[in-house]
Amino acid sequence: MSKENKTKAEAQKEKLFAENKNAYEVCNDAEIKKAYKYCESYKKFMNEAKTERESVDKAVEMLKKAGFTPFEYGKKYSTGDKVYLNNRGKALYITVFGKKNLEEGLNIAAAHNDSPRIDLKQCPLYEDGGMALFKTHYYGGIKKYQWVTVPLALHGVIVKENGEVINVCIGEDENDPVFYITDLLPHLGKDQEAKTLGKAFTGEQLNVLVGSKPYGDEKISEKIKLNVLALLNEKYGTTEADLVSSELCLVPAAKARDIGFDRSIIGAYGHDDRVCAYPIVTAAIEVAKTVPEYTCVTILADKEEIGSEGNTGMQSFAFENMLVEMAENAKVNPRKMFENSKCLSADVNSCYDPTYPEVYEARNSAFLNKGVAVTKFTGARGKSSTNDAHAEYVGLVRKIFNENKVLWQACELGKVDIGGGGTVAMYLAKLNIDVIDVGVPVLSMHAPYEAVSKTDVYMTYKAFCAFFERK
Ligand code: MN
Ligand code: MN
Repeated sequence: MSKENKTKAEAQKEKLFAENKNAYEVCNDAEIKKAYKYCESYKKFMNEAKTERESVDKAVEMLKKAGFTPFEYGKKYSTGDKVYLNNRGKALYITVFGKKNLEEGLNIAAAHNDSPRIDLKQCPLYEDGGMALFKTHYYGGIKKYQWVTVPLALHGVIVKENGEVINVCIGEDENDPVFYITDLLPHLGKDQEAKTLGKAFTGEQLNVLVGSKPYGDEKISEKIKLNVLALLNEKYGTTEADLVSSELCLVPAAKARDIGFDRSIIGAYGHDDRVCAYPIVTAAIEVAKTVPEYTCVTILADKEEIGSEGNTGMQSFAFENMLVEMAENAKVNPRKMFENSKCLSADVNSCYDPTYPEVYEARNSAFLNKGVAVTKFTGARGKSSTNDAHAEYVGLVRKIFNENKVLWQACELGKVDIGGGGTVAMYLAKLNIDVIDVGVPVLSMHAPYEAVSKTDVYMTYKAFCAFFERK
């Protein structure tokens, strides 16, 4: 229908209603092609960065290639400088210095790069029933039943007494072995099936099968355990005692792949929150190509999945210390800098799932392909434990996105009082910074294999480019 033929009501409706459009309605073919192309590099990143350490390593590699250098204490930086501070190989703070005085505030993007997984205990290896197994202690919020009978890869580090750090990654190469957590067969699962999901699988049952072949034919005890230790010793020069100072975890061995006949969706382990970490790092690299107005800071935080604790988590002073250092070296008041800073907390939200409509309130849910999800508040039970962004700030973010043709949608996490969740937003807000959550809607969040839409990933990248380039 042409414009002239619209009735007054139709015209009014078009003007007055807020409508969430779908990316395939608003983007032309060229832009969809661009989105899909961007996602190819994202998938590659996901296959190489399955832990926070690997994610930081990968990001540093990308930054170095783009001319970023390590942050130096005591140094006065100037417009156009681009640096990164690597916090213990697990968290990363990237800065692109802009034209404005630091006192006018920073543009901050903060994602986390840890994901739920199965960590090994510090004394993990034992032999039982003719098998060698690892004891584990899961990390983050998992539904335990999802992690049994799937191929797992072992990632992490073993640190020897002499300080030598040994990187471990087994199960990613096609020729590598994988690891495995067993489950009961249905034939003997009657009692298990009668239990509730939360009780049918316990943390202590998440034991990982790592071998069954005895060491030689010698008449000693625990020959299968000995054989595993001998193989580790041969490969890494380690002993059982070295495992005490290791950080080893099991993550799904599956690679990132397209989902669906139309290839519009990506399945991968750890979209939460590397599906935001990758866009903000690539946006930082993009904005550094032209000098931004405001200084732009990108954070990859660790330990979000366990409450942002620890000195690599967002509750640590590490980030604040770096910003204060920057302010002092530039002879500006850090308090004013914080007060004027704006942050987009880049974290995923739950995508509406038509198979489980009962937990979503559809008018305030994020949908697949409707763009980057803007979440004013997270938390639970009457907005407790959340940063509830100010309307003024939501207004600014809305303006930036609309002016830059970023497709976005406003949402919250599920129905009121049905659950809840949190992000790093409230820890940045504590620094007196304006913060709001902005990120990709995810299906099956925290599962070993999560799903996101390609257009949503691309819109998130576009959102952060627009935010970093704000005037
Ligand atoms: Mn998250
Ligand atoms: Mn999470």
